[in-house]
Amino acid sequence: MDKSLKQPGGIYFHVPFCVRKCPYCDFYSCTDLDRIPEYVAAVAAEIKMTPDADFCADSLYFGGGTPSLLPPKAIQQLIDAACSRFNVASAAEITMEVNPGTVNSRNLAAFRQAGVNRINIGVQSFQDAALLFLSRIHSADDGVRAVEQARAAGFDNMGLDLIYGLPGQSEALWESDLRAAVRLNPRHLSCYILTYEPGTRMTEDLRSGRFQALPDDQVARLYALTPRFLAKNGFLQYEVSNFAASFETRSRHNQKYWNHLPYFGFGPSAHSFTKNQRFWNARSLDDYLEKIRQGRLPTQAKEDLTPRQLMMETFYLRLRCVDGMLVSEFDKRFDVVFDQMFDAVIERYQADNLLERSGDYCGLTRKGMLFADAIASGFIDLI
Ligand code: SF4
Repeated sequence: MDKSLKQPGGIYFHVPFCVRKCPYCDFYSCTDLDRIPEYVAAVAAEIKMTPDADFCADSLYFGGGTPSLLPPKAIQQLIDAACSRFNVASAAEITMEVNPGTVNSRNLAAFRQAGVNRINIGVQSFQDAALLFLSRIHSADDGVRAVEQARAAGFDNMGLDLIYGLPGQSEALWESDLRAAVRLNPRHLSCYILTYEPGTRMTEDLRSGRFQALPDDQVARLYALTPRFLAKNGFLQYEVSNFAASFETRSRHNQKYWNHLPYFGFGPSAHSFTKNQRFWNARSLDDYLEKIRQGRLPTQAKEDLTPRQLMMETFYLRLRCVDGMLVSEFDKRFDVVFDQMFDAVIERYQADNLLERSGDYCGLTRKGMLFADAIASGFIDLI
């Protein structure tokens, strides 16, 4: 089939290795780096075993974990494996997440050479005290150096990740992080509010009173200043936590998730979505490797999403995006009349200046963005 006739899709590689576990993180990762070669061979085998995709991948994404711990040759091997098994667009966006504590000029140049054409650097903060609180393995200077080295290695399409809402953080402190980020001239910024996930060490420390969380009203102030500051500096918000210097530098891969477009995920705990079915791999590296060793796909479970579930997800995903939802598309997809079905909440949220409903558009106001999940729940209650 002609590649151009297939719908766009994505390929995700979950790289489950980290130098050290950050206390706030609940992603699956392990610190036994000796297992990297075994992992790379297993992912290549998983790709070979996977049935054909009904999409043409225009984005490949190495996430984790810390993908920049893989040798560039391994990245090359996995890109080659995906390209020989699936339809991958010649101009595919190939992104790798990078931890500043794991890169230098040499491996960055080799990643670029291997075909990675976009990187996302997890600088998190430009203040050493914040990095210490987050137990990151790098300093603020390491973050700046990684950006400069990546640019010298030929990465023009670069994103930075920042975390805010840390204990005691003032508007001035957060703004100085944003200013430092903008000064480095990235094409994309992800600004995440620190969340206290169940079961993490940081959440335990919070519960046992070792520190106090930033009060919600202060988090809201930091949140409100973010799009204001970034808009003045040329970055437009396109999702609750994501900002791009132009339409072209929005993350192609993340938009697959938000638009219910198909993607395949490889590696432990990776999720896939295609033809309204979601399936996910064994979470632990041991279980994942064992299944591959037995010559089996490492799928742990599958779920066929009902129209109701798809509708619920549409609210959770699309209301986080500045482009919101096209009401005519929603009506057609779910065979409903949106305005009749959700009349009561639309009116309430509009009155509170949380939602905009005009013409074919329904989406959140800037104020509403901070309450995206709660507002989505309001809609979902009526399904
Ligand atoms: S480096 Fe990233 S993935 Fe690894 S533990 Fe820290 S936050 Fe989690």
